[in-house]
Amino acid sequence: MGMDRGKYVLGIDLGGTKIAAGLVDSGGEVSNYCLVPTGAADGVEAVINRIVLAAKQAMAGYGEKIDAVGVGFPGLADPRTGMTTAPPNLPGWGEVPLGAMLQTALALPVFVDNDANAAALGENLFGAGRGCQEVVYITVSTGIGGGIITSGRLMHGFGGGAGEVGHMILDPGGPACRCGGRGCWEALSSGTAIAREAQRRIQNGEHSRVTVLAGDGPIRAEHVFQAQAEGDALAMEVIDRAIQYLGLGVANLVNVLNPQRVIIGGGVARAGDPVFVPLRERVRQMAFGRAREVEILPAGLAHLSGVVGAATLAFAAGSNSQCL
Ligand SMILES: [Zn+2]
Repeated sequence: MGMDRGKYVLGIDLGGTKIAAGLVDSGGEVSNYCLVPTGAADGVEAVINRIVLAAKQAMAGYGEKIDAVGVGFPGLADPRTGMTTAPPNLPGWGEVPLGAMLQTALALPVFVDNDANAAALGENLFGAGRGCQEVVYITVSTGIGGGIITSGRLMHGFGGGAGEVGHMILDPGGPACRCGGRGCWEALSSGTAIAREAQRRIQNGEHSRVTVLAGDGPIRAEHVFQAQAEGDALAMEVIDRAIQYLGLGVANLVNVLNPQRVIIGGGVARAGDPVFVPLRERVRQMAFGRAREVEILPAGLAHLSGVVGAATLAFAAGSNSQCL
């Protein structure tokens, strides 16, 4: 949108547990970052009031310097209308015209898109995908989400649903997915899948350090990664299996899209080399032809990817290319 120096976009990252907001300048720098609890259980109106609260906190003192608002939404969002649809982690949400409501409340142009699409754009403009026209961004945490940049533009598909890579079916007889299907990528490689597989094997009588690390609480993916680092056999097998499937999914994507870079964000990616080294090897084995030349990199924006990504929705709007 042709940002002037000294101007800002307000980026809002709506999550299931917290709302992050901050001002992002044309260089991708963030100021006035703030966090507000989502309080998803209180219903749609309460959540929208808290989004406005977070927005006003982040905007305090900057008034006329703010050009627009970008919102990353944790579910289906139509960027043309600002309409959002029932995400799994916001109960009772239904169909909400989030863009129009925030435009009224904040008196600024508002751009809404799916949060993984927003993060993909943020990585493309300011993170690990800088300068690239062909980028696939994948976030691996409780689920698996993604965003696809092709010819420098975010791919939306016919109904706005493109980039839902987590529901690629990699094993039709595999574990149940929260979408109702079986053997989806996120049911095999997400943090939730890693924790669930460890728990299943432990319940079947196998022994593991994971039990000790989890203590009285539920088993989480971090416990399995920690046990793997300590050489625990079960944890090593569980994580190896998840990475094999991670590689399978990435290989399928690069065979179809031939991206220059695949950028991996989310909690699982923060494990670093124990994930990236075997992942790159696996993709090299399975990718076809020139797709094999892909670079697989960790996300560059860390915890700010949500807010920066949301703001880039406004930066990118109206420009033909998101590439610098
Ligand atoms: Zn699924």
